[in-house]
Amino acid sequence: MSTYPELHLHIAGEWLDARGRNSEPVLNPVTGQPIGTLPHATKADLDRALAAAAEALPKWAATPAYERARIIRRAADVMRERADAIATMLTMEEGKPQPEAKIEVLAAADVFEWMAEEGKRAYGRIVPSRAAGTRHLVLKQPVGVTAAFAPWNFPAITPARKMSASLAAGCPCIIKPSEETPATALVMARILVEAGLPPGVLQVVFGIPGEVSTHLMGSDIIRKVSFTGSTAVGKQLMKLAAERAQRTTMELGGHAPVLVFDDIDAEKAAAAAVAGKFRNAGQVCVSPTRFLVHERVHETFVKSFTRAAEALKVGDGLQPGVQMGPLANPRRVDAMTALIGDAVAKGAKLHTGGERIGNEGFFFKPTVLSDVPLSARMMTEEPFGPVALINRFSSEEEAIAEANRLPYGLAAYALTRDADRAVRLQERLESGLLGLNTFAISLAETPFGGVKESGHGSEGSIEGLEAYLTTKFVAHAPAPL
Ligand code: NAD
Repeated sequence: MSTYPELHLHIAGEWLDARGRNSEPVLNPVTGQPIGTLPHATKADLDRALAAAAEALPKWAATPAYERARIIRRAADVMRERADAIATMLTMEEGKPQPEAKIEVLAAADVFEWMAEEGKRAYGRIVPSRAAGTRHLVLKQPVGVTAAFAPWNFPAITPARKMSASLAAGCPCIIKPSEETPATALVMARILVEAGLPPGVLQVVFGIPGEVSTHLMGSDIIRKVSFTGSTAVGKQLMKLAAERAQRTTMELGGHAPVLVFDDIDAEKAAAAAVAGKFRNAGQVCVSPTRFLVHERVHETFVKSFTRAAEALKVGDGLQPGVQMGPLANPRRVDAMTALIGDAVAKGAKLHTGGERIGNEGFFFKPTVLSDVPLSARMMTEEPFGPVALINRFSSEEEAIAEANRLPYGLAAYALTRDADRAVRLQERLESGLLGLNTFAISLAETPFGGVKESGHGSEGSIEGLEAYLTTKFVAHAPAPL
């Protein structure tokens, strides 16, 4: 039987516990019962973290990229070796099935490895100069100390994206993972420290989210902020960042449309879509949400989708064969109940689900709604849960207009065999990510990020490293004789 680890803060090279500090319980979403006690950083702790990061900056920035890469890559290898145990911990605090958690942990290890390597390629360039003997250089330099804020739905991959790019670029990072899923980020931090990361280069803090971000971002030491979470909180943090002109990467909410055309096999499409929809119980910023299905295949699609959703095994993610775990926290259960109730009251058809399972833990039935009116809150608000909305369209033009209707622009998907149409969709869908005949759109080596109110900047890939580098132009002329 696995046990949940002791939880700490990691500041200036020390692991600090809850003694003399405020704390909060971490709940297992299967039971709703506490499994750990998480210390909150005091203001003095946060100041110490800022000072330690400032002290670590010159040395870490000057550490050769090859040496930084060696440390980060070593950590990635250890994460792979311990993937099973880390995944079990992740399931205990977040709820997703353990095999799904293991895929996430292995993907996080890939992110560390890829960024470690990419750090070696923070190339500048030489621009041909206009005068003989003069050099025009473009240098890429670490942006400085960074602050990162990660949510609870991907306790491994989201902190990994932020930590890896910052560290590989030569920037010390202070990260506040989610208070609801703290152990996974802490164990990754421990592994990085074991792999040779010097004190102050990576620090992990927890507390009241708004207080921690206000305190850290109120310091001139922080030069860049990376946040993943809701659009509402992202906007607050952008305002705070504006005070000190701190750079930001914002991965915010989404409401992904899925355009299903009538040139595909609707039954096979529904089976693939169910796997995409109910991954992590739909608590995914790129979760396929608004299915827009051509009217000729709508009925077949809804029937097949409903059958596959009903066949999903929901339960404790540590039990074998479970395909969907509980929701991560009671707020999601309340939100699902309210949003589905509102949609049904406004005329949506409920095909399956629509209610919580039992009264222990945070379980909710996979839910399918069709013919959902635009006036339903869920057609505008991100549901962030196990619910699919399946509406119909009659023309490509109408489908594109509906897909682009919302202020969000994170992910979009389309299922079609028509190559010309696929090109039109690439041009016209307003999203940072587009899956054509696939729901797999997140890899270490590809950029991940949104447009419009889904945020700005990308994580992963070369863009993800660039976000932690500044550009300096140097004009170097011959010395006057
Ligand atoms: P929330 O919006 O309060 O919190 C979202 C995340 O932001 C949490 O991890 C929280 O700790 C953090 N946070 C909140 N206020 C903060 C602040 N001032 N400074 C720094 N971090 C802060 O609410 P929630 O109930 O956790 O989630 C609600 C909604 O958030 C979801 O419905 C979904 O739309 C969105 N969300 C998006 C993602 C994503 O991957 N983009 C992840 C989690 C939640």
